[in-house]
Amino acid sequence: MSHKNFETEAVRTQLERSQFQEHTTPMYITSSFVFEDAEDMRASFSEEKERNIYSRFSNPNTTEFVEKVVKMEGAEDGYAFATGMAAIYSTFAALLSSGDHIVSARSVFGSTHTLFTKYFPKWGIETSYFDINKPEEIEQFIQPNSKILYAESPTNPGVDIIDLELLGTIAKKHNLLLIIDNCFATPYIQQPIKFGADLVVHSATKLMDGQGRVLGGVVVGSSDLVREIYLFSRNTGPAMSPFNAWILSKSLETLAVRVDKHCENALKIAEFLENHPKVNTVKYPFLKSHPQYEIAKKQMKLGGNIIAIDIKGGIEAGRKFLNAIKMCSLSANLGDTRTIVTHPASTTHSKLTSEEQLSAGIFPGLVRISVGLEHVNDVIQDLNQALNN
Ligand SMILES: *Cc1c(COP(=O)(O)O)cnc(C)c1O
Repeated sequence: MSHKNFETEAVRTQLERSQFQEHTTPMYITSSFVFEDAEDMRASFSEEKERNIYSRFSNPNTTEFVEKVVKMEGAEDGYAFATGMAAIYSTFAALLSSGDHIVSARSVFGSTHTLFTKYFPKWGIETSYFDINKPEEIEQFIQPNSKILYAESPTNPGVDIIDLELLGTIAKKHNLLLIIDNCFATPYIQQPIKFGADLVVHSATKLMDGQGRVLGGVVVGSSDLVREIYLFSRNTGPAMSPFNAWILSKSLETLAVRVDKHCENALKIAEFLENHPKVNTVKYPFLKSHPQYEIAKKQMKLGGNIIAIDIKGGIEAGRKFLNAIKMCSLSANLGDTRTIVTHPASTTHSKLTSEEQLSAGIFPGLVRISVGLEHVNDVIQDLNQALNN
């Protein structure tokens, strides 16, 4: 396999052309594939032949999408899912047994946290949480039955950074599988496998699609582990639809240029907000004021598109800020062409007690901004008028 540059692999990784010599990969909207004869069918089912059988197992469009992500992350193999959560759930379910233990960062995506706390204990799988800002404490949570070390970086919604190289070292020393949710960075910015991750999971719904259209998920990593996840998924059915795979494969062709622009806009907006009198603090990985700035610079090519700010005046100020926004969207998604603002304390996390909110890194005035691709001056103008209101 040739190793071209990231952008070239993203654009030029493509299925073999059909007899029609199409330039762009067509959609293979088919649930199954036909066999020549009984022998062809036998050999296909016994995996003597590598070919498509049924779209729950594989489909040309999902194969193309997965192949791109595999190359981008520097992985060996992968499998695509209907959503990011399907990827995360299936990865854990395929690799863990009753009695196993997970060591996870406390600040992980909400539904991932729910999996760990509400569902996995039903099947005898327990999780211990470490504070992402106290990586020196991770080893004290490792038990003889620990199997997986799990984290996201940057985190949601606090935009904290954890040293992936350190996680790789700890995982290796204790014989744990290191699994990283790389959704916020994308493989264009950060490749966790370089730092020792065994598997990388993504919600393709976010920056990979980048246009707020389809849901998707993917896991990539070593062939042996992906094989386990594939066999589990082939039988349990969380597969990505070929339609979504076609969309997402096209989206990846523009990932690099989109993410470049997202990050350029985000840095300008973060710098603007840092000097705004109504803002206490701004957290953005590529601002020198970020507590893990040095680590961010070491492991990330750019700072990403998510900014966390603490507005003066706490929960009431946060609510007023949302109501004063004119152009930006109030929405649950992120990584879209459109800038999205959220105020977790009064919305997504309002049911938590204030102690629970704080332990998840959510202070009352926290506003998360997912910077989009509008002209940066128009976004700044909207945020500025809403802050001053
Ligand atoms: C959105 C998200 C997920 C879940 O992905 P879905 O596609 O919504 O299922 C997982 N991890 C992170 C970090 C996310 O932002």
